[in-house]
Amino acid sequence: MLSQRFFYFCAMANNDDQFKKVISHAKEYGYIFGSSEIYDGLSAVYDYGQQGVELKKNIREYWWRSMVHMHQNIVGLDSAILMHPTTWKASGHVDAFNDPLIDNKDSKKRFRADVLIEDYAEKLQQKADKEIEKARKRFGDSFDEQQFITTNPRVVRYLEQKNEALTRMARSLENEDLQDIKKLIEELEIADPDTGSRNWTEVRQFNLMFGTKLGASADSAMDLYLRPETAQGIFVNFLNVQKSGRMKIPFGIAQTGKAFRNEIVARQFIFRMREFEQMEMQFFVRPGEEMKWYEYWKETRLNWHLSLGLGEENYRFHDHEKLAHYANAAADIEFNFPFGFKELEGIHSRTDFDLKAHEKYSGKKLQFFDPELNENYVPYVVETSIGLDRMFLAVLSNSLKDETLEDGSSRTVLSLPAILAPVKAAVLPLVKKDGLPEIAGEIIDRLKFDYNVVYDEKDAVGRRYRRQDAAGTPYCITVDHQTKEDGTVTVRHRDSMEQDRVSIESIDKILRNSIAYGDWLS
Ligand code: ATP
Repeated sequence: MLSQRFFYFCAMANNDDQFKKVISHAKEYGYIFGSSEIYDGLSAVYDYGQQGVELKKNIREYWWRSMVHMHQNIVGLDSAILMHPTTWKASGHVDAFNDPLIDNKDSKKRFRADVLIEDYAEKLQQKADKEIEKARKRFGDSFDEQQFITTNPRVVRYLEQKNEALTRMARSLENEDLQDIKKLIEELEIADPDTGSRNWTEVRQFNLMFGTKLGASADSAMDLYLRPETAQGIFVNFLNVQKSGRMKIPFGIAQTGKAFRNEIVARQFIFRMREFEQMEMQFFVRPGEEMKWYEYWKETRLNWHLSLGLGEENYRFHDHEKLAHYANAAADIEFNFPFGFKELEGIHSRTDFDLKAHEKYSGKKLQFFDPELNENYVPYVVETSIGLDRMFLAVLSNSLKDETLEDGSSRTVLSLPAILAPVKAAVLPLVKKDGLPEIAGEIIDRLKFDYNVVYDEKDAVGRRYRRQDAAGTPYCITVDHQTKEDGTVTVRHRDSMEQDRVSIESIDKILRNSIAYGDWLS
């Protein structure tokens, strides 16, 4: 066994720099390109390159398996992006899918008013956290965090200010009192983060749905919307799936697919896009049992995230103060992106709002006959909804590291979870002659049915290792002259950089073990 152990530390760039690095790395290694770049791009629309499309597909698959294959009572669906326009009247999107926008008169920049206030609140939270950390260091083991939070005047003040701001915002949004939102921004002295200007316009509501038309002639064309969420395709198919699949409550319907939102502000790469993909699951339950399932799905979804090993400290729950028109409980799973903790996934108890609304607007019953209770009812719904692109960003940004090795050299490594890595192994002949490329080709032919593997013969092997490290490939398989003699190769592990000498026959087992869904998901 050839084992070479390096010790290294990660050079963590500051958050802004780290985010810029993620964006340029994503482009350089074929993960993400700006849409129609040769025409200067289209704001907040992105294309996934040769590596990105594989990573995205693997994240989708990881989600799909955990939802559909691992739950006997959850089935899939693939509904159309275009839906009858009344769908969006019933769902409330035509009347209420708005964001409050505000413009800065000096910088001419547009902001979401609620996000300005939330960012302000987050800063207060960070100040409080800093005080708590300082005290934790000072008092050591005897530190009582709960007592400190409730008695330290500075921390109490920060947290009170934060809660007051969020509660008032929630109340004003609830009452559609946009004047008060503007007043609150002024009272909190919130400024344009880039210019410091406090010269704000009034706050206005802005509907986020993209309109389009169905039909050829102008007079008979029907006004449609591109779906702003995949969930409604599930609701309108509730009875189709329930009856054809003989589903019994509780059961779920899962789907992944594109959604479109004309976002007011879309400045954070693929975090907020105008065309994006969602992975949603609607779980239909007995009325009155929704809170039990809401808690179940909160825990189950957090565990799914933790299974990928991106670090427990990078997740937190945020319970909603202001509930959407359809919900009686809602929480976000927030992730520590390079620009701070932000929503990655939402878990919502949507009550019977959607199915009842579709019953009303369509005139068709959307009910379930519960044989145990011997009654018909409109089920309640608990939804889990995650943005595939946001998940992609979470994985990519968390995995990108600069490392300084013990010998003083450095490397960039994309330590993607092996199960998600676009390419599982690169097969490298040590030299381009002596029959080594042919053996490498044979190894690829053995593996290609089960794994995405690539061949790389250009440059010295050390450079090829670095290239595969930066591309996120977990294994490099090197064919050298010894291979010809005894049928063994070197397997190099991306994260530890350790190398093992193994037989060609055992490569399959190594790869299989590292990407066994059973090990990752259980
Ligand atoms: P936000 O508050 O960030 O606008 P939201 O609460 O409107 O998000 P939901 O309607 O709950 O989001 O959508 C579910 C998930 O879809 C979100 O948790 C997020 O991961 C993803 N998502 C929503 N909007 C976008 C977007 N514009 N770009 C990328 N992903 C998005």
